[in-house]
Amino acid sequence: DSKRRMRNGRQSFTPALAQSQSDRLHFETQLRRAAENEEFHLVFQPQVDLRHGRIVAAEALIRWRNFHLGEMRPDHFIGQAESTGDIVRIGSWVLREACRQIAAWRDAGLGIVRVAVNVSYRQFLGDDLANTVKATLDQFALPGSALELEFTERVLIEDAPETLRTFAQLRDLGVMLAIDDFGEGYSALNYLRRLPIHGLKLSQLFVSGVPGNQSDVAVCQAVAGIARSLGLGLVAEGVESEAQRKFLLKLGVPIGQGFLFSPGLPADEFAHRLQAPDHAYRD
Ligand code: C2E
Ligand code: MG
Ligand code: MG
Ligand code: MG
Repeated sequence: DSKRRMRNGRQSFTPALAQSQSDRLHFETQLRRAAENEEFHLVFQPQVDLRHGRIVAAEALIRWRNFHLGEMRPDHFIGQAESTGDIVRIGSWVLREACRQIAAWRDAGLGIVRVAVNVSYRQFLGDDLANTVKATLDQFALPGSALELEFTERVLIEDAPETLRTFAQLRDLGVMLAIDDFGEGYSALNYLRRLPIHGLKLSQLFVSGVPGNQSDVAVCQAVAGIARSLGLGLVAEGVESEAQRKFLLKLGVPIGQGFLFSPGLPADEFAHRLQAPDHAYRD
């Protein structure tokens, strides 16, 4: 029991630890209730043509606003939601909300913009992902091509038996598939041939170092080469400077995403940007 542990000095139960444990419980409880309490919303970060900044797609990014805990970025709660399994329900909400928004933009005549949604490796475990995606597309009368799913290499590491079938089903729905944060993971290049994916997202980790850092330059060149020779699309993540934009353009990277162009925007601001005249980025 805890008294004995205290005497042994192995785990002293200090007020600070008690405090952090109750904080943690509070956090978990709030997170579990967040969906039903409608505390999540999405922001949309433009993906732009690197030549002139015209918007070609958007990535939906989740935000959590809680009365007690404030506004939180996903890095603060996605890992937790993955370990409890809450991410599966949260992920379904994200899919539905993204599709609802795409349909609303289409109905408003704002043009056809594909939206990329982040999908956790946990959503790939089990048989439901493709069914959930199909039901959600149907609910909003959207074609699969309206949607792109981003997943990380973690999905491939888990190597669940149902994964390959899920990929095939998603491809058959016409949904686009992209590997997020490419280069950060345990990139085994053999899966690039096996999977029906459409694109790679060059990790911000390497984009942030160009054009100054020689090894980051080398990684960006290698990833651009892989994408080109396998006929995959390529989006550079985390483009923050004009120097990075120029470097990526020269490498032949067609699309970029980052604070140089825009952070994630509330849906109405994104729609506004869609209608606004194109940004002028020139060489
Ligand atoms: P990610 O999918 O790689 O998303 C890109 C992250 O980089 C976003 O952070 C975005 O705001 C940030 N970012 C974009 N441009 C720049 C830039 O130029 N500079 C810098 N420093 N950062 C930039 P965010 O929104 O905090 O999301 C973090 C991660 O959380 C995402 O990384 C993704 O892995 C995860 N995530 C976000 N939304 C969802 C979701 O709906 N479901 C799941 N499963 N994961 C999500
Ligand atoms: Mg992403
Ligand atoms: Mg990423
Ligand atoms: Mg990331």
